Amino acid sequence: MNSKCPLYINGQFIETAEKQNIINPSTGKVIAEASLASDKEVDLALASAREAFDRGPWPQFSLIERKNFIFRIAQGILDNAGMLAELEMQNTGKPIKETTFMDIPSCAKTFEFIANNFIDYLSQEEVNVSSDAKGKIIREPMGVVVLIVPWNYPLLMACWKMASALAAGNTVILKPSSLTPLSALELAKIIHAAGLPPGVVNVINGSGVKIGQALCEDKRADMISFTGSSEIGKQILTYASKNVKKMIMELGGKSASLIFNDVDLDVAVNSSLTSIFLNQGQMCTAMSRIFVQEAIYDSFLDSFVQKAKRIKLGLADNPETQMGPLISDAQRKKVIAYIDKAKAEGAKVICGGKIPENPELKNGYFFEPTVLVDVGVHSHIFKEEVFGPVVLIHKFSGSDEAASLANSVDFGLAACIWSQDLYLAQELAGNLNAGTVWINTYGAFYNELPYGGFKQSGFGKELGRQGFLEYSRVKSVIIDQSAENKPLVNYWYGF
Ligand code: NAD
Repeated sequence: MNSKCPLYINGQFIETAEKQNIINPSTGKVIAEASLASDKEVDLALASAREAFDRGPWPQFSLIERKNFIFRIAQGILDNAGMLAELEMQNTGKPIKETTFMDIPSCAKTFEFIANNFIDYLSQEEVNVSSDAKGKIIREPMGVVVLIVPWNYPLLMACWKMASALAAGNTVILKPSSLTPLSALELAKIIHAAGLPPGVVNVINGSGVKIGQALCEDKRADMISFTGSSEIGKQILTYASKNVKKMIMELGGKSASLIFNDVDLDVAVNSSLTSIFLNQGQMCTAMSRIFVQEAIYDSFLDSFVQKAKRIKLGLADNPETQMGPLISDAQRKKVIAYIDKAKAEGAKVICGGKIPENPELKNGYFFEPTVLVDVGVHSHIFKEEVFGPVVLIHKFSGSDEAASLANSVDFGLAACIWSQDLYLAQELAGNLNAGTVWINTYGAFYNELPYGGFKQSGFGKELGRQGFLEYSRVKSVIIDQSAENKPLVNYWYGF
């Protein structure tokens, strides 16, 4: 058991008296004991990030110096990739193949990408505003940025935020989910080894309920970048309103995949399985509503269910495993409650819907891939995020109906369109209330492309130029250029 999981504040590793057992969801066993922050450590972290921003060297470093630090963090992640993949697998229950080939390399790539591009993104603009004046549009760091991340992609979400926030010259406080703090606490060690000045990065593990309000209300924080549920996002908005902070809100989803008659059925089925069952369905962009055009509905459903039944559930450390456990017993209970409610509202379970019987899995929080049909469009499961391996499959006739079904929920995070008619698909993409639309593909995120939702899926972007610029503020500077150096406004008083 890794007993040393201290917080990281002002360049120091700090053990606290209050600890939390960290559970491996595959086995239900305790794998670590992590320090928990109280209001005292929140105060220390805010003071340290503030001091590092106001008086430390970080915001004053040249862009090249900051670039070198960001590269060193990327290299540190790569040097520790095996250990991080193992840790993320143990802490989240994600299959080891996923953490090894997806999560951890993507973390390093984001730091690398930002290091390679942020200097261009920060380039200063000059505007000739009149014959007598020149304007400059200057990008500055926001200041102290609080980064709050969820448990489904613990390190990746932290890295998306941190790479941009640091490169833009901010200092940060990262708060991982108290269910999955281990990789973030290891990232603190990598950052320490990369030589960032004390206070530039602080990592405090703690219960959101206990320390969230203090962290988000405090005047010393200038910005909050939150990824998590819409429910908690709404609470954070109220905390942040107290002192009016800049925010990025990456919230929940109930995304729709629209599958047209002309698709290659195998490709559409296989990709649709990934789009809901990857990471046990615990993805904000999970395609938890699949709409299939009438002519292929029966064959799609039949093939989807046959293949869903063949998905190999297993312990996360087994390289053969295709689906691991849910994050916790509480999450599994929430999923089961949703299915029970859906059944009471008339839905039929045609695949899964229960805890697997395999005795090897009995101590973990496993749940079978689940397919529902006959789901009413007004039922809870049609509209609310389950965050588990549960999909509903529904029929549509034409593209107007498909768009209307996709748009009929309060979320607007992502969507998929499957059709060989690229004209129709692109036109439809324009009509969808979704911040990301994949056409004939699913799940690829690019550092070049901004990502973020609409409606109750939040606002603001991560990644891409737009995502990077969220972590900066814009200042206009106006320089008088009049021939006699007598700005026009002076004539008002006739001096
Ligand atoms: P959550 O909202 O319960 O928690 C997210 C984070 O907020 C955690 O660190 C938690 O400790 C903290 N928190 C909880 N209460 C808080 C409070 N009162 N004040 C401040 N912080 C508080 O979400 P979760 O269960 O960890 O993650 C799942 C959710 O995250 C899903 O809804 C999913 O859709 C969403 N998510 C969204 C994206 C996206 O990019 N849009 C990505 C990943 C996950």
